[in-house]
Amino acid sequence: MNTAQASAILREVGLRDGLQSIARVLPTAHKLAWIRDAYAAGQREIEIGSFVPARLLPQLADTAELVAFAKTLPGLVASVLVPNLKGAERALEVRADAMLLPLSASHAHSLANLRKTPDEAVADVARIVDLCHAQRADTLVEVGISTAFGCTLQGEVKPSEVLRLVQAVLDAGADRVGLADTVGYADPLMVSRLFEQVLKVAGDKLNCGHFHDTRGMGIANVMAAWNLGITRFDACLAGIGGCPHAPGASGNVATEDAAYLFASMGVHTGIDFDRLMRLRADVAQWLDGETLHGTLWCAGLPKTMLNQETL
Ligand SMILES: [Zn+2]
Repeated sequence: MNTAQASAILREVGLRDGLQSIARVLPTAHKLAWIRDAYAAGQREIEIGSFVPARLLPQLADTAELVAFAKTLPGLVASVLVPNLKGAERALEVRADAMLLPLSASHAHSLANLRKTPDEAVADVARIVDLCHAQRADTLVEVGISTAFGCTLQGEVKPSEVLRLVQAVLDAGADRVGLADTVGYADPLMVSRLFEQVLKVAGDKLNCGHFHDTRGMGIANVMAAWNLGITRFDACLAGIGGCPHAPGASGNVATEDAAYLFASMGVHTGIDFDRLMRLRADVAQWLDGETLHGTLWCAGLPKTMLNQETL
């Protein structure tokens, strides 16, 4: 259990997980403003985009330009999603601070999303780690185990398979692993059980929880992982996000709601609430007509918390 003086990191993944699920292409100028203002609001980890072919995801085609800008902001950890070795080469070219390699624990989701089996994806992790070592790059290699709690395509995903894959990617040299509830199947009890088991295998290399709020369990799942000592979470401003291969999957945990959860417990996130909510209003305007999520923006902070400088 974390103490009241602890701190938590909310990695903003709206620019990647969020925007990839929205058909419209947000202009680069708006994305630059998003990164600038998220940084000004105190966020120090941002998943900038993804190095997938632009014909597959035109929404994220400007990732290199965005990383270049993010690198000018002192102390900002700029991560990018890379689906394969080619993507990793591009991440190293732009000197991303971290690369996020998705690996589906669900065989069916892996084939649909990455066109390879989970074990082929593990082999890719090993090749990418070797590439980083060969280039003496200080880019962190983080593997996100997606569909760790179940999958819309194949249904059940066995915890034993998640554990096997976590061990395999650590053996392949990954620096960190995270568990992702890509399609919103997890509940707090499942989160407690799986994180507890994976912590025994990965120790502090397990340091990210990625939860979607598809069935309203997002914040409860964050809390369940936090109670086991996990202090780093992915979140999307306004709760945007989803998965192209998971029909009906709605957004990630909303950044502002997660920030509020931690503030309510006296846990430091470094986030300035006023600035974050102004940015949320801008994002809502840029994405006018899209379905947004989150609850805090409706009512604002309670009076008892209004005079705090930051959350
Ligand atoms: Zn996601």
